[in-house]
Amino acid sequence: MVKVEFIEVKEALSKSNLPDLYYALNPYFGCEHSCIYCYAREYTPDKEVSENWGKIIKVKKNLIDLLKIEVKKKKRGVVGLSTITDPYQPIEKELELSRKGLEILLKNGFKVSIQTKSDLVLRDLDFLTQFKDLVDVGLTITFLDKDIAKKFEINAPEPERRINALYKLSENGIKTWVFYGPIIPKVNDNLEIIKELVKIAKETNSIFYYDKLRIKKFMLKSNDLLIKEIVNSSKSYDWKNLYKKIEEICKENNVKCLQAFENKRNNILSFLPKGYSILPILL
Ligand code: SF4
Repeated sequence: MVKVEFIEVKEALSKSNLPDLYYALNPYFGCEHSCIYCYAREYTPDKEVSENWGKIIKVKKNLIDLLKIEVKKKKRGVVGLSTITDPYQPIEKELELSRKGLEILLKNGFKVSIQTKSDLVLRDLDFLTQFKDLVDVGLTITFLDKDIAKKFEINAPEPERRINALYKLSENGIKTWVFYGPIIPKVNDNLEIIKELVKIAKETNSIFYYDKLRIKKFMLKSNDLLIKEIVNSSKSYDWKNLYKKIEEICKENNVKCLQAFENKRNNILSFLPKGYSILPILL
């Protein structure tokens, strides 16, 4: 059972340090999807939430009121929705803070880059299609097997739903991208998965981002056996060789492919079609 608390904050749009995002809009602290590798817990300022990841969600109850004021004053820039939580986690279905935030931002001329693991994003197709020049949407597809996904991304929608959402967004003319990450040795690093994901990216005209598992402090301290296993399997892994194979598969399929985080901003921008920002935190 997830505990939900309502809090007041002083600011809706925070300055982002991520490449190509000027602001971040995070309607919630915490994420019910409860991915065991989630990096966001290390960047969440609320200690109670970060130490009880997936069990407590804090809802920013005054977010929309603040945002309405801020969009009138702040300079235009790309907004990442969201960067330390999934904007379309289950509570969003009822509270609609991401939807309301998206509407305000788009109607006020802000560009928005969305990253999610949820097909709930399709609920907002009306705004996304109306403002398609201002948005891009990334779906994180880490695994293809739903049972493996369930072990790592405990409460997130299963991969098939994310894939279907990606096709639907693309069919509606929305700029899309796939995020394949974290790549975990011996779990989702085989070439069959990569070929299938690249095929999906090709068919949806999506950019293909990929990234290895990043070892975070909380993982090193964890007693969870699965976390220990993935940390160990990442030691001395030949990432260079895997990345080379990914690039080759993308090239064979004529899919734009980018190693997340490691590319310098300008390199990335030179690859991107007009109108693309790049991904938030790669959740
Ligand atoms: S990785 Fe993303 S979807 Fe998973 S728990 Fe973290 S914020 Fe939520």
